[in-house]
Amino acid sequence: MRFENKVAFITGAAQGIGRDIALKFAAEGADIVVGDINLQKATQTQGEIEALGRQALALELDVTDYTKINDALNKILDKFKKVDILVNNAGITKDNLMLRMGDAEWDAVLNVNLKGTFNCTKAVSRIMIKQRYGKIVNIASIIGIIGNPGQANYAASKAGIIALTKTTAKEFASRNINVNAVAPGFIQTEMTAKLPEELKQKMLSAIPLGKFGSPLDVANVCAFLASEDASYITGQTIIVDGGMVMV
Ligand code: NAP
Repeated sequence: MRFENKVAFITGAAQGIGRDIALKFAAEGADIVVGDINLQKATQTQGEIEALGRQALALELDVTDYTKINDALNKILDKFKKVDILVNNAGITKDNLMLRMGDAEWDAVLNVNLKGTFNCTKAVSRIMIKQRYGKIVNIASIIGIIGNPGQANYAASKAGIIALTKTTAKEFASRNINVNAVAPGFIQTEMTAKLPEELKQKMLSAIPLGKFGSPLDVANVCAFLASEDASYITGQTIIVDGGMVMV
């Protein structure tokens, strides 16, 4: 029960990795804010958290909209009075080869993945600074470290998240706020379900542990980073990929 009396705000928590992070943190005692662009699914996750005996608040949230994030934060403070943990998990892909990639694909991915992380960090860190306590975990990707054909937008956004993690870790360290990132490899969620079977088999053959990751594999590392077990770690990116990328 590492998160007893803690409040965790998780973006993109309606499904996939974010949902498992929410359930893992709740199972360890946290009350959870489920922020997602899809309110209907977020409300289902809220129900699953309440079934674990914790309090939960589902909020419709577009991480690209700073004003709406602040509105959401007011609702969070009304209900829970504080935010101890922020997990910047909301993310999208819009793949295309470089020469075919349009501005709309580039802008959408950079806006949600990188600006969304910047927006939520900026809004929530104001509260954490006053509290003199906070844990921020950003969800990057191994693609932000090694690159990938067809994912110039996604790779740039995730590399940006790794750099943002280091900078915010340095800025907030004196305020007792730890900022770290997790870089997952291939995790079985709706995001990866849409990839062609042939590509999935190729990726599988490149994973030394011989299997795809589960959302819980990522959630377990997020829980470690958001807990006091990781209190002397900040600015780091931990790869969770079955050994695909070894740096
Ligand atoms: P997912 O299943 O697509 O879930 C992402 C959630 O975020 C969805 O509920 C989505 O809603 C929501 N979302 C999208 N845009 C949003 C916005 N503007 N504001 C708030 N919420 C928004 O994806 P996932 O696989 O769990 O991925 C979660 C994170 O892990 C992402 O940052 C992703 O880049 C990262 N990651 C995933 C993998 C992988 O293999 N799955 C690997 C490395 C990193 P809609 O469904 O309605 O769009």
